[in-house]
Formats: sequence, structure tokens, C-alpha cells
Amino acid sequence: MSTSVEFFKGRKAVIATKHSKETVMQPLLNEHLGIDCFTIPGFDTDVFGTFAGEVERVLSPIDTLRAKINAALDMSQQDLGFGNEGSFGPHPQIPFIPCGLELVMMIDRKHKLEIVASNLTTETNFRQETINNIQALETFLQSIDFPSHAVILKQENNAGLKKGINNWEDLYQASQALGLETNALIAEPDMRALFNPTRMETIKATTQMLVDKILQQCPECHMPGFGDEQKISGLPCEWCGEATDLMKQKIIVCQHCQYQVSYEVDQKASPMYCNQCNP
Ligand SMILES: [Zn+2]
Ligand SMILES: [Zn+2]
Repeated sequence: MSTSVEFFKGRKAVIATKHSKETVMQPLLNEHLGIDCFTIPGFDTDVFGTFAGEVERVLSPIDTLRAKINAALDMSQQDLGFGNEGSFGPHPQIPFIPCGLELVMMIDRKHKLEIVASNLTTETNFRQETINNIQALETFLQSIDFPSHAVILKQENNAGLKKGINNWEDLYQASQALGLETNALIAEPDMRALFNPTRMETIKATTQMLVDKILQQCPECHMPGFGDEQKISGLPCEWCGEATDLMKQKIIVCQHCQYQVSYEVDQKASPMYCNQCNP
């Protein structure tokens, strides 16, 4: 039986990045999968959308990521590629907490594999504030850990914009140039990976998640990347037996041979989660 590593050992892979993500991705892919990574000098991911909003991202995050990696594969004529895409905004369940969703994907055209790891995290300095004076700006900067993390300042109509500000001199220049004393400005952390060490750490952790998933093989056909979970809700209430929203079953299906593993939850739901007993 071959191991996942044998699918990849000694192969070359392109990392689709403009913002130095290879610094955290390459060592993990090399150590665990024996892959030799490279980047394309001048590869421009901005055409797929930017955080500051000059270029709108039109596709969903996962489609954007797939398009980026495929562009890098076409350009470099390779059959193995990796990439990352992040999205930032309010937490889906807790709207006042900012969070990040990082996706890291591998596309292997040789073995027809697409494997993706997804990491929803509250470990982010993402936020946005309208700033009217320099004191408010300084308070905001503290909250995003400036200057180790860079900031973006922009005018409300998006007319003026300065990105990648990571020192006090540039900051005062930018706030003057954009007219902080006369206009309100929008401030947000620069989420590009090389300007945001917190985000870079999350990309590293998500790359490790992807490696772990690649190393899991289907018990039947042995293809790498076995582990996409499908959760089925409907765990019965322990009082009345009515189906609740809690998970009753987890199914993992191989995307190649359709082999399935299913795990049943071996308990009943507390009546606290039951619409019948606790409406
Ligand atoms: Zn399989
Ligand atoms: Zn019940």
C-alpha cells in the first residue's frame, strides 16, 4: 500500500502568492510531503480582488482560490499547486466578534485531486473604524497592534487610500495627505499576509491542517485527502424523542471511490435543545 507521501515526494509545486505566503507554507509542505515549492516572480493575485476594495472580489472565496491556483499552474506549466484565500468580517454566530476564515487548497492535476482546509478563527486584528482625529487614530492603532501590523487609511468615498503603513512617519504623512483634521477617515488593518503577522500565523496553522488532511488516506482506494465531514442533524431528545438540531451522525465520503465511513452519536439530546420540551 502506498502512503500519501509517495504521491508527492520529490515533485515541484507552485505557490500562488504575491504576498510572501511561501515563507510559512513551503517549510511545512517540504517537511511533511517532500514537495519542492517555488513562486512566480511578479504573480499578481490582485486581479482576483483586494482587501482594501480597489478591486472587488466577484467570485466566492473558494472559487477565487481555485482560480488563483489554476492561473499559477497554467503560467508555470506545473501539475501541482497550492494557495490561500482569507475573508474577514463579523463572526457568523456572534456578530460583534470579528473573525477570519482562511482556506488553504492543493490542486494536483496529475492525480485529479483538490483538497482544501478551512479554518474559522477569532485570532485576528480585523476591524474597521471611522476616525475623526489623531487621538482616535492612536487608540485604533493600539487595538490592531501597530506598527508590527500595518494599517490602511482611506477617505470615506474611497477617493484617497494609503495601504501598508507600518511606521509613525508614514502614518502622520498619510493622515495629513488624506486630510484627517478636515475629513473623517476609515481605518482598518492591512490584511495582506506580509503586513499582518497574526494572519501569517493563521495561514501557517491552516497549511498544517491541509497537510494533516492530505496525509489521511481513503481506507478503500488509498487516495490522499480522506476527511471531508458531512454532519447530519436530528439527534433525538432524551425526553420525547423528537429530532433536535444537534448532530446525530457524521459521514466521511471518499471523493474518488465513494467509500463511506459513518459515525453515529451514541447519546440523546438534552431536552434543553428540544423544540417540543423547551420551545
Ligand atoms: Zn476512496
Ligand atoms: Zn423533547
